[in-house]
Amino acid sequence: MDAILATFLMKWLQNQNLICPICEEGQLIPNVCTEQTRYKEKTLTVDYESSTCSTCGSEIVTPIQAQSNQARILDEQNQRNQNN
Ligand SMILES: [Zn+2]
Repeated sequence: MDAILATFLMKWLQNQNLICPICEEGQLIPNVCTEQTRYKEKTLTVDYESSTCSTCGSEIVTPIQAQSNQARILDEQNQRNQNN
């Protein structure tokens, strides 16, 4: 992540709102897509949360969404481990 975007995200987090940190006008609309990630030579498909700005169309993963995405990937990996 580049430093400017990180700064925007910090400001945005402090504001605790859903205004786009890029254009500072649009509203962020949460959405979920599926993302493929590689783990131990296998491809895992997990739900991946992100938000899209209604004005500039920027796709942003909020820190909260990033945490929840990470948790979901770990969950999926743990399940694979148990099956093996
Ligand atoms: Zn925007």
